Amino acid sequence: GGGPARGRGVSSEELLSVKNLSVAYKKHTIISDINFSLNCGENLGVIGESGSGKSTLALALLGLVKSEGEIKFFNEKTWKKNNLDLRREVQVVFQDPFSSLNPRMTVKEIIEEGLKIHQISGDVSAIMKRLHLNSDLQNRYPHQLSGGQRQRVAIARALILNPKILILDEPTSALDYVTQSEILKLLAEIQSSQNISYILISHDLEVIAQMADFIAVMKSGQIVEIGEKKQIINSPKNDYSESLITNFRL
Ligand code: ADP
Ligand code: MG
Repeated sequence: GGGPARGRGVSSEELLSVKNLSVAYKKHTIISDINFSLNCGENLGVIGESGSGKSTLALALLGLVKSEGEIKFFNEKTWKKNNLDLRREVQVVFQDPFSSLNPRMTVKEIIEEGLKIHQISGDVSAIMKRLHLNSDLQNRYPHQLSGGQRQRVAIARALILNPKILILDEPTSALDYVTQSEILKLLAEIQSSQNISYILISHDLEVIAQMADFIAVMKSGQIVEIGEKKQIINSPKNDYSESLITNFRL
């Protein structure tokens, strides 16, 4: 049926299982009751208005904020033991590459950094080529790049570690429409040749719809509805999801 694109490396193997996840800052609940699971190769889109808890969910999945509940990768791994393997397997790209890229490091140094941390080898030129970054950009600094190039460097830095999951938090929100489309196309291209799952967070349904197999709708720190993309877009069951999607159709 109209499920996730099979043949793209989607399998019935569990990639991620989240149960009863919550995050609180100083006893103030930011997200709660988060439950979902995802299989290898499947892409999840997380949509919701600003302040709904999308970035907090990303940070929790990355083990970068304290959370309650269960986050389990590949049926076994959790953040509980300082798991360097998992640190490599779950990568992230944030919205603003200007603040996430060290201004004093060259493109080459930025892309190589994770390789050193994880003591693995990788081919900087090859990964740059895959991201359509000319290799003569290797010695440039972030401020010498365009916004789209900067974000592709951030993606290269993540992908050179050969992750199984790439979490993208508003990856194209700071970019113009054409650059945004190019990056989404590149991500799809990469997925057609390697096994990877994307968790794509955006406030923009158009971005989510291009890439997601499943969509989770967030409101006030909770997932109010989650389902296959088609179902969420064509026949949302939740009133809030419906209003969100109707707004995008206008
Ligand atoms: P989104 O990414 O959907 O815009 P966030 O996860 O960034 O939402 O934020 C969700 C809520 O949590 C917001 O009300 C925000 O003000 C609050 N929040 C986010 N980070 C912190 C923090 N470090 N301390 C306290 N409150 C926070
Ligand atoms: Mg956010």
